[in-house]
Amino acid sequence: MRHLPRVSSTSIISASDENYKDAVAAAVDMLRAGEVVALPTETVYGLAGNVFDPAAVAKIFAVKERPSFDPLIVHVARREDLPRVAIVPEDIQPTVEKLLNAFWPGPLTLILPKHPDVPDLVTSGLDTVAVRQSASKIFRAIGKELGEPLAAPSANRFGRISPTSAYAVQQELDDRIPLIVDGGACAEGLESTIIQITAGEKRPTITILRPGPVTKEMLQNFGKVERPKRPHDGSAPSAPGMLPSHYAPRTPLLLIEDWEEFRPEPGKKYGLLSYTGEPGKGYVSRYRWSIVEALSPGNGKLPEAALRLFHLLRKLDNAGLDYIVAEPVSEVGLGVAVMDRLRRAAAVH
Ligand code: AMP
Ligand code: MG
Repeated sequence: MRHLPRVSSTSIISASDENYKDAVAAAVDMLRAGEVVALPTETVYGLAGNVFDPAAVAKIFAVKERPSFDPLIVHVARREDLPRVAIVPEDIQPTVEKLLNAFWPGPLTLILPKHPDVPDLVTSGLDTVAVRQSASKIFRAIGKELGEPLAAPSANRFGRISPTSAYAVQQELDDRIPLIVDGGACAEGLESTIIQITAGEKRPTITILRPGPVTKEMLQNFGKVERPKRPHDGSAPSAPGMLPSHYAPRTPLLLIEDWEEFRPEPGKKYGLLSYTGEPGKGYVSRYRWSIVEALSPGNGKLPEAALRLFHLLRKLDNAGLDYIVAEPVSEVGLGVAVMDRLRRAAAVH
């Protein structure tokens, strides 16, 4: 019989090939018992609980210290499970079908009318629900074995940096949860793109509520793509939970979009989050930084920058600095999602 250590602190179980079945079984046992567990996805690590178990959902909010007005994303292990949590309106059905064919399983979350069985706590009382199917094999294996969809927001304390490794989850939630399934580093490193679809006379409109790995450019074949007004000025969030301050390190982060804005205080330690880390490029050679970390060393590639963003923010946050300075990246493709996260991380809290 498998034996799990007592829940005095958090256990970490590896999802390596030899251990895969044990990892699935351990997570499913916990989920069946109404517990919440941290699981790898291709975006960031998620804190998962059975969506139809209101006590488990309440635990997700409690463990994360997440306010109840910030709704959760629901993950279906199989596409056939979508009707268990959401209702697809007829007028957008063909578009939904095309988007799911193109991007599921993967980092695209759809906002759809909610199925009445989904507890109100999951959706913060909204009549819509956010749904996706993760591309992570282990995540889906656990969902399939459990036989229920999972509510799973990122496995960090509210407002903090999203975890992209089991170690980062441990830093965030140690002693608060019984189990972390270690599936290695996340492949995307940024949270899913969240969209809402509305039918149009000729083409549907796709509104990007949160930019992510599925970019505007990738969605343009499926409809007219729009972004709601950005809430970085402290005004009301454009979508519930999309607060201006989020993903924040404890060390103040300065996103310096124009070098002239940089006014260092004497005697303070500044670290640079650079795009390429190359001397002569960006801000690398413009100041005596205590430390420089490169999002994508060498030529600079946005997918690599996205993948390393949260890892490096966390690293700089632990480096004993007074300030972290971030260079802007160009806002095309994945750069839109990277800049969205940097702006929120830099927003005054
Ligand atoms: P995460 O923290 O990655 O689980 O993402 C959850 C985010 O999805 C929330 O903060 C909201 O911004 C968004 N979201 C979830 N449900 C809805 C919904 N019904 N309508 C609009 N946005 C939603
Ligand atoms: Mg989150």
